[in-house]
Amino acid sequence: MFKKILIANRGEIACRVAATAARMAIRTVAVYSDADAGAKHVQACDEAVFIGGSAPKDSYLRWEKIIEVAKATGAEAIHPGYGFLSENEAFAQACADAGLVFIGPPPSAILAMGLKAESKQLMEKAGVPLVPGYHGAGQGAALLQREADAIGYPVLIKASAGGGGKGMRAVDKSEDFAEALASCKREAINSFGDDAVLIEKYVQRPRHIEIQVFGDTQGNYVYLFERDCSVQRRHQKVLEEAPAPGMTADMREQMGQAAVAAARAVNYVGAGTVEFIVEQKPDGSMSFFFMEMNTRLQVEHPVTEAITGLDLVEWQLRVACGEPLPLQQSEFKINGHAIEARICAETPDNNFLPATGSLQVYGLPAHSSFERAAHGVRVDSGVRQGDTISPFYDSMVAKLIVHGSTREEALARLDAALMQTHIVGLSTNVQFLRHVVGSASFAQAQLDTALIPREASVLFHQDKVGLPLAAAALVAHTLDQEAQAEHTAQAATAQGWIDPWARRDGWRSHGPSLRSFSSVYQEQPQVLLLTRGHAQGLQLMVDGQSETLQFQRLHKAGSEGALDITLGARRIQAQVHDHGEVLHVFTPLGATTITRVDALAHAGETQAEGGRLTAPMPGKVVSFAVKAGDGVKKGQPLAVMDAMKMEHTIAAPVDGTVAELLYAPGDQVAEGAELLRLVPLEQPAAVAA
Ligand code: ADP
Ligand code: ADP
Ligand code: MG
Repeated sequence: MFKKILIANRGEIACRVAATAARMAIRTVAVYSDADAGAKHVQACDEAVFIGGSAPKDSYLRWEKIIEVAKATGAEAIHPGYGFLSENEAFAQACADAGLVFIGPPPSAILAMGLKAESKQLMEKAGVPLVPGYHGAGQGAALLQREADAIGYPVLIKASAGGGGKGMRAVDKSEDFAEALASCKREAINSFGDDAVLIEKYVQRPRHIEIQVFGDTQGNYVYLFERDCSVQRRHQKVLEEAPAPGMTADMREQMGQAAVAAARAVNYVGAGTVEFIVEQKPDGSMSFFFMEMNTRLQVEHPVTEAITGLDLVEWQLRVACGEPLPLQQSEFKINGHAIEARICAETPDNNFLPATGSLQVYGLPAHSSFERAAHGVRVDSGVRQGDTISPFYDSMVAKLIVHGSTREEALARLDAALMQTHIVGLSTNVQFLRHVVGSASFAQAQLDTALIPREASVLFHQDKVGLPLAAAALVAHTLDQEAQAEHTAQAATAQGWIDPWARRDGWRSHGPSLRSFSSVYQEQPQVLLLTRGHAQGLQLMVDGQSETLQFQRLHKAGSEGALDITLGARRIQAQVHDHGEVLHVFTPLGATTITRVDALAHAGETQAEGGRLTAPMPGKVVSFAVKAGDGVKKGQPLAVMDAMKMEHTIAAPVDGTVAELLYAPGDQVAEGAELLRLVPLEQPAAVAA
């Protein structure tokens, strides 16, 4: 076995590879960029070497530098993780040339599977079923149009070099084809430097089911069952599970054998994933077609580890060392059901706009590392509380993996684990994931790639807590904080008591007293009125409704700092975290925020001026949809930016006229940079009475 390996990646995958290496007594070398100087993966490894600036091209993609570091530190092999250099055949070749082992397939296999069109031609020869479509070399617009017409609409145009859900356009009718083709080619050349496309029949109600395969250098192949990754947004995976609901033993074997045939056709070695698109017919039957092969470890590999009890990174290391596969096909068994949720820094309610910021609170459910599936909850994370999610890398914060004896059990466990995931400091998809898990389609395993749009009404803009309970949490938290502060002050004074007249909150010792709290909930100002009577205790008036309020701080293990709140007939436990004026309220029902407005702190502030259009995060300007002088309506798309592996449309906040474009397509912009100047339309003057 290797004595020392270099991990050419960052974040959770680098930490995960380091954990297996440590267990196998293999020493590890981390590489890191400026932004990652204090990152978790740097500490997780035995040694670490700085390799350059924060942008991937200045560090994690500098393969000459990485090979140099491997040689200088005496590493014998390089694990590329996923993303970055993992599917770069030139890098795999350069490792071999430098006498280093690339922990992955041979360069020829990466190359063969790297282009979607070429790999499909290969698969056709190997007898692997393909989606009806065109994947030829001819790329003329007229030829492609004829091919699309012959396939029949709807069709999907894909960039042959594409990946990560980018470079795809669905086309419903012949008239729309030319324009979609042009836009797909434009995105393909910008993102992948190659504008070749292929066309596929757009499969209706499709499911994404993929097969984990493994090969060794002796020519043995096995498949480690399937993963269902149908729940997607922008063609990117959100939830992944294994086994796939509704999978029959027969179909599993057929798909497994097709995947092994695909791997064999390219002399594959190591861990790989063959992705299939599965068509669900009205009669309930399913057909599967090869989509692509990812020649690396996949983000969602932990669900396979959970149901097989295997460590896939250990297998990768053994195979890379020349050992035969540890087990044969007949020795694998599926144990229970596993689901993975990708926790991302993003705002689902704002079209999944990626978010950046620091993890002020990063509370995770009780979990184990991948080695032991204790309590059925595993968390793979590359960050710690206090760390920053920077704009340089993708938006994935962590992966939550649950395992249960049945799908129902795994689902319940996932909901509980998400409920216990408390992140404050940046926006995440945690609540959104809870809504997906709770949706009828997901609960009943009605899976297909349109699940999110179909269930939109129960996934977006959901508020499970509601104003009264959020208000009660604000008041309870404030009074509790004051009581604690008072307690501390009291303990500090020599007499052991403080002057009641020094209190600022207007309480009186006799007679009912009234106190008001200014707050903002869901962008609406709300005045909360609290009265304390002799007999009935606290009464909270919210939005014209008055209810009794009681609360106490809990001290039991696991819920330290939680408040037990009773409002009228409802009783709930809430964890409240202050983030400036914003209170983050986590309850079993869901999480919400409510702002506690300190009126004095805002005196003299004016409204931000309208008409400025700034970059929501650092990134690249892709295109402008308008030019100087254009009149625009509120909500109209003005510009497209690319950041954190996603495209974002910037829309007009008000009706107006475009005065000036301040950047050109292709320009790199900083967060907050003004992209264009918009002159808002004159507001109609107020009519004098
Ligand atoms: P998958 O099918 O496994 O989701 P993706 O194409 O979405 O494949 O990429 C896999 C993972 O690789 C991403 O989720 C991300 O963690 C990582 N990755 C890919 N490209 C980059 C990049 N440029 N910067 C940072 N991470 C990246
Ligand atoms: P990428 O390299 O970006 O991962 P894929 O070819 O794997 O691209 O496709 C990504 C996703 O797009 C699939 O998981 C599926 O949701 C959708 N998709 C791909 N091909 C088709 C098709 N022919 N019909 C319908 N949906 C498709
Ligand atoms: Mg794919």
